[in-house]
Formats: sequence, structure tokens, C-alpha cells
Amino acid sequence: MRDLTPDASHRFRLLIVDDQPINIRVLHEALSVDYEIFMTTNGLQALEICARERPDLVLLDIEMPDIDGIEVCRRIKSGEVTKNIPVLFVTGHTSPEQEALGLEVGAVDFIAKPIHPAVVRARVRTHLLLKWQADLLRRMALIDGLTGVANRRCFDDALDLEWRVCSRSGESLGLAMIDVDYFKRFNDQYGHQAGDTCLKTVAQKLRGLLRRPRDLIARYGGEEFVCMIPGASLDALRDISEGLRSAVESAMIPHGGSDCSDVVTVSIGIAVAYPRFGESPDVLMQSADRSLYAAKQSGRNRVLAEPSNGTNAQKPRL
Ligand SMILES: [Mg+2]
Repeated sequence: MRDLTPDASHRFRLLIVDDQPINIRVLHEALSVDYEIFMTTNGLQALEICARERPDLVLLDIEMPDIDGIEVCRRIKSGEVTKNIPVLFVTGHTSPEQEALGLEVGAVDFIAKPIHPAVVRARVRTHLLLKWQADLLRRMALIDGLTGVANRRCFDDALDLEWRVCSRSGESLGLAMIDVDYFKRFNDQYGHQAGDTCLKTVAQKLRGLLRRPRDLIARYGGEEFVCMIPGASLDALRDISEGLRSAVESAMIPHGGSDCSDVVTVSIGIAVAYPRFGESPDVLMQSADRSLYAAKQSGRNRVLAEPSNGTNAQKPRL
């Protein structure tokens, strides 16, 4: 079990928002020893800082000119990159109605002015720990527990996203479906523990070859992995996939049950599409899947594209 507390060197970052500089100074004195602090007297600037710096927590005044704290909180909570930042209201006179409204727009807590430094520190510490744990769980929900690469859920989300991005930009989207050859026989011969170790090694080898931030390797299920390369031509994808195949082979994991080699190998089916609005990425998945089937049929330990790939891989007339 992973430790669910941040290590001591982790330095959290807070944003303090209040139209009165004296109030900011008091909070700054209470918190600046333990945290990195951003400050502003202005609600719109607070939103900019949130989007740019992604602080771990916001201490927010309610009564401010221009846009008030309630509106600032509402916008933080509706922003895709800021919605998970906890907001604590710091306020002079709270009515139950105002408190209800604050909670409704997504605040996690209220702190009364004038502030008591020990109380502020304790509340902030609690909410930072909760935020840190929630972030960890969000990350863990996207990672395959055995191999440490992205899991299928993460891949499905990334594929949908890249499909839309590529349909806007006119880029191609390349997919490689990767399957460990004779993996059932490997498990039967060496046991499931060795099978798990084998999958971890294969995943590390595959991940080690990806260079660009949008490239993704995921465990698709069982002994099947998938690699997504936005912007790749079929030739480029073939080269990358040949590198993946070769990296697994060169790990030299003995496999006495394989009919195609003495060591663990993978078969890879590749496909490229030019995504278009309104189409589903399923077409690309199915094409890569057919290529994988063809690679298996023609002897395994190889990279193959099905001959019909290209019908959907024509560059659209722009
Ligand atoms: Mg104020």
C-alpha cells in the first residue's frame, strides 16, 4: 500500500485573494513559513493565477469590488484545469444564506475574520492533505496497477481526445495494437508470477521508446498493449512499431513455449487514420485489430498493417 501522505519536502502552493492588503498580510504571516504563496487583491487576476499556476488551494475573500468571491469560486469550479483546486472562503460576516451559497458554488470551508493563525493553519493543512490524496487517487485511477503504464480507461479517454484534436488540426492518428506471443503458454510453463514480471518488463521496454508528450502506451487488457502516436504516417508508425517489437525481443526473456522464438516476442498490428468530425475512433481500433490478427496469422513476432489500411488513411481534401 502506498503511503497516503506527501513527503516532507513537498511544498504546497497557496493563492490568497482579498481586496484589502492588510488582510493578505495577516494570512501571509500565518502561512508563508510552510507554503509558497501567491497573492492578489483582484478577482479576475485570481482566476488568471489559478489557470497559470494551478495552486493547491485558494483562500478567497467574499466581498470584493468588480467580481466578488462567490463568482470567482464559481468560475474556478467550472474551469477544466482549475475545478479540482479547493477554495476556502475567508469572510468577516457570514450569514447562513451566504454560507449555503458559498458551499453551493463549490467552496470546501469557511474561515471567519479576524483570523486566528493556528486555526487557519490547521484548516489549510487538512484541506491540502485531502486535495493531495484526491489527486493521487485520480492519478491511480488512470494507471495500470501491475505495469505502471496507462490503463484502458486512460487510453479510451486519450483516444477520444486525440481523435477530436486531430480532426481539427488535420493531423493523422496512428495506433499500434501489441500482443505478447503465446502468453498463455508462458503462464502455463513459468507460472503467473513470472507472467506478471514478464508483462512489467514488456511495458517498460515499450514505454522506454516513446519520446513525444502526446505519444501514449497503455495496457489494453491481459497481455495486450496499445500505442497511440498522433501525427504519424503509416511508414513512421511502422518504424516506431518495429522499434517496439525489437525492444521486447532484446529483453531476452526465455520462452520455451513459443513457436516463433526462444524468447518473449510481440506481434504488432498498425493502422493510421485521418480523423474526421462525427466519425468514431472505433474504425481505427478495428483496423489496427485486423492488422494484429494478420500479424499473428503470418507467423507472429512482426509488425503488419492490413492491406486495406489506406482507404481511411487518405489525407482529406482541405
Ligand atoms: Mg473584502
